[in-house]
Amino acid sequence: MTTPCIITVAITGSVPRKVDTAAVPVTVAEQIESTHEAFEAGAALVHVHVRDDDEKPSSDVGRFAAVQDGIRQHCPGMIIQFSTGGRGRELSERGAMLRLRPDMASLATGSVNFPTFVYENPPEFIRSLARTMLDGGIKPECELFDLAMLYHAAGLLREGLLAERPHVQFVMGIAGAQPAKRSILEFELRELKEIMPHATWTAAGLGRHQLEVNHWALELGGHCRTGLEDNIRYDKSRLAKSNAELVRRVADLCGDYDRHPASATETREILGLPAASP
Ligand code: ZN
Repeated sequence: MTTPCIITVAITGSVPRKVDTAAVPVTVAEQIESTHEAFEAGAALVHVHVRDDDEKPSSDVGRFAAVQDGIRQHCPGMIIQFSTGGRGRELSERGAMLRLRPDMASLATGSVNFPTFVYENPPEFIRSLARTMLDGGIKPECELFDLAMLYHAAGLLREGLLAERPHVQFVMGIAGAQPAKRSILEFELRELKEIMPHATWTAAGLGRHQLEVNHWALELGGHCRTGLEDNIRYDKSRLAKSNAELVRRVADLCGDYDRHPASATETREILGLPAASP
């Protein structure tokens, strides 16, 4: 018996088009198609940003709805996670699409410098997003870009703003935030066990760290994130051709660590999400 590994695919992201590749899905149809290919390759969870017609990051609720409908139709049971992330969006817009009741949404539990801007998440804003998610039955994925955010997430749990079994994501390798170092991940996992013993976790490495962090997560018993959102910076000669290619790379590695790609049903059990409606 091998242990399931949830493979999250972050299909699009919010980095401006000039540093994207043609492979990054931007239109609704492209996003649904790319998610479907990734689902068939072994991804059970999709992390979604949407763009407007000029390909800029968008908060358009209709756009989120169209992507969600398409994914539900083509990828039965797949877990849909909307990004409440910041680039190019006002604080007031960032939670607007939560009214669509996706399975999950990202929740950054602190502010941090990114290479060219401040990723701003003031305390009251974090609380209000967490409250909206809790009331809407939307499971947060606490995005931890730096050590302090782990303890802030634990604080939300103590305050009753996170449900009993939180899910966290260690994001590593963004310049200005925490580096992709295994010793840091191992330290954070020890802390996680102490302060949020029931939490599940995923790790993501950016750019050239993507694959390396996948290996660590598989070995250390966590779950993996991959996808073009995290792959599009740094080394353009080694860019992946598709989200499915990146998912396949993780799926193929699972066996080396006595793991297998979690199905959508297994993923719902692991994360304590309700079964998908038929
Ligand atoms: Zn994202």
